[in-house]
Amino acid sequence: MSLLEFDVIQKYFSKITNTNNNADIPLAIGDDAAIVSLPENKELVICTDTLNDGIHFPIDTSAYNIGYKALAVNLSDIAAMGATPKWFTLNVSLPSVNNTWLQDFTKGLADLSSQYKLDLIGGDTTRGPLSITITLAGHINKGQALTRSCAGIGDKIYLSGCTGDAAIGLATSLTNVIGDTADDYFVNRLNKPTARVELGLSLVGVANACIDISDGLLADALHIANASQCGIQLNLESIPLPKISNKEQARQYALSGGDDYELIFTVSKNKQQALDNIIKKSELTITCIGEVVEKKGIEVLDKNKKSIQLSMFGYEHFKQ
Ligand code: ADP
Ligand code: MG
Repeated sequence: MSLLEFDVIQKYFSKITNTNNNADIPLAIGDDAAIVSLPENKELVICTDTLNDGIHFPIDTSAYNIGYKALAVNLSDIAAMGATPKWFTLNVSLPSVNNTWLQDFTKGLADLSSQYKLDLIGGDTTRGPLSITITLAGHINKGQALTRSCAGIGDKIYLSGCTGDAAIGLATSLTNVIGDTADDYFVNRLNKPTARVELGLSLVGVANACIDISDGLLADALHIANASQCGIQLNLESIPLPKISNKEQARQYALSGGDDYELIFTVSKNKQQALDNIIKKSELTITCIGEVVEKKGIEVLDKNKKSIQLSMFGYEHFKQ
């Protein structure tokens, strides 16, 4: 480690901590590895995601938003498991040491980590093309995690919020052509996604399967269908649309646009009452968009229950 790297770690990263009593972190930044202690009857839930410059965020994205988003996408994975986020590590590859950039980046990271009382417990700092990898760990009661593979035939499938906004934000920031409404709203949804952590926690014991939407509604619904060895039927008319004036385009974005970090989850009939109580208390809009069926794959139905070609939604186009 060079002196420069040591300085960067000391000055910026060693301060991102939100736990006053360190009982659950016997050893954090500064040694060869960190140590955390897990509460009794809990198991560890771990995820990791990398953001590369120009691939996972547009090249002119602010340092603040890069820091924020790198953590938010990981929080979303923990949310989709129904777990409580706790500790994270941060690997940064930086082309140079730019203090203003590092300050803003750290602020984005610190603002979101303080919201969830997370602790940064280690990482690695290297020189190279701009790339950020966060590994986030949390915990959940043993055997309670929400997985993709437990959807049951007859379950209703629900969506939090609305999908498509982030893809509109991306199109806006890349081309500046779509903006027929408040652009800032969509660009913000791209750069500062809101992980649905509280919703995920409330769904434990209620939802059968759950996934966060990073690839797009159709693609991620298919992940649940495949993992659960069943199919999913979505009702086009029930799917909430992003607020742009062109309805056809709004549908394409809602079904195929990625990066929204909402949750989709399935609930069986006997848990419907419990879900209704969650919906009543939640500040989010939670919409029933279809159901789990025997026939494998994804099907989208129009209002006459007729199957619609998925290519209608630019499914292939947005898929990558
Ligand atoms: P080592 O050579 O043993 O891998 P490093 O010099 O890479 O140690 O790191 C020294 C300490 O600083 C370690 O505790 C490591 O986890 C921490 N650290 C390094 N980079 C970061 C970072 N970007 N964010 C948080 N902690 C970091
Ligand atoms: Mg190291």
